[in-house]
Amino acid sequence: MNYSARLDNLRRKLSSAKYDALVISELNNVRYLCGFTGTSGMLAITANEAYFITDFRYQSQAAEQVDPRYQTAIAEKGLWKETARLLKKLKVKRVGFEAEHTSVAALEDITKLLKPAEPISTQRIVEDLRVRKDADEIAIIQCAVDIIDDCFHYLCDMLRPGMTEIAIANEIERSIRERGASGASFTPIVVSGERGALPHGRASNKPIAPGDMVTIDMGALVDGYCSDCTRTICMGKPTREQQKIYELVWRAQTESSAALRPGLGCKEADAVARGIIDSGGYAEQFGHGLGHGVGLDIHEQPRLSKLGKGKLAPGMIVTSEPGIYIEGWGGVRIEDMIVITADGAQTLTHASKPRKIIAL
Ligand code: ZN
Ligand code: ZN
Repeated sequence: MNYSARLDNLRRKLSSAKYDALVISELNNVRYLCGFTGTSGMLAITANEAYFITDFRYQSQAAEQVDPRYQTAIAEKGLWKETARLLKKLKVKRVGFEAEHTSVAALEDITKLLKPAEPISTQRIVEDLRVRKDADEIAIIQCAVDIIDDCFHYLCDMLRPGMTEIAIANEIERSIRERGASGASFTPIVVSGERGALPHGRASNKPIAPGDMVTIDMGALVDGYCSDCTRTICMGKPTREQQKIYELVWRAQTESSAALRPGLGCKEADAVARGIIDSGGYAEQFGHGLGHGVGLDIHEQPRLSKLGKGKLAPGMIVTSEPGIYIEGWGGVRIEDMIVITADGAQTLTHASKPRKIIAL
């Protein structure tokens, strides 16, 4: 990973900001900038200095992982206390902190510790850098996606009526690990029959029954990066209604994915899928956005939705996951991961996605 380029990018933002130091406390942001994967670490960055602050438990891990452009400091009485001490030595006056990742209680403490320097609220400074993935990140995410593709094809071979949703979810987690991931990027969602109407329903003790549609949403974690994929399959021959609704979602998913390209607004991307589902008569049954960015976090910027802001740009990795959810009947969702390229987009997911619902 090119941590050096990331630090340079962050410093470019610092030069135009209203603060002279930035403290990064959110752990995935810390990892993104310096490579540290532990659970106690913070960065303090100024125009000329860059510190990584951790506690004694992580001393040797830090020596192995943290990019050499950061000086490691071991905190004896809390990370913020040590950070404040370092910043005072540098005589900084205004210290940016990550408002979205700082509690009110922590802010009260920080304010006291930093005095006479002043804490300045910032939002999404590192997240905005993370939104466009570099080649190393895209390669790792592709590995996480490949594992899920494989896992889906394995499930198609082994799913049988009578298995409970929970048993399937557990099998997914096992199979993801077996295929080389460090774990699942989120608890797998397995919902069958009427329960398919719950977009984020948890797997239950319900056994899957002949005729059920089953929606499986799962992801793997590789080197800290996530994948995210959904397929809906049918246990046995689908009814006309099941095939009709599946096909509508399939069209919304494939056509909106084909429309993704740099410069397309996040709102407009969502509108492509929504237009197709609306014209099929299911506007009210597609209650969430088209997709989201995926990276070190399973849900990150950008958001493809009615309220989505900004435009797609090369290097962004997003999901395209329209769905239709009908209470008392069930639901369908299809989700792929897609990377925006210089002149279009490329689908990373290769799990089978035929126009006719897969019937097991
Ligand atoms: Zn998903
Ligand atoms: Zn998703």
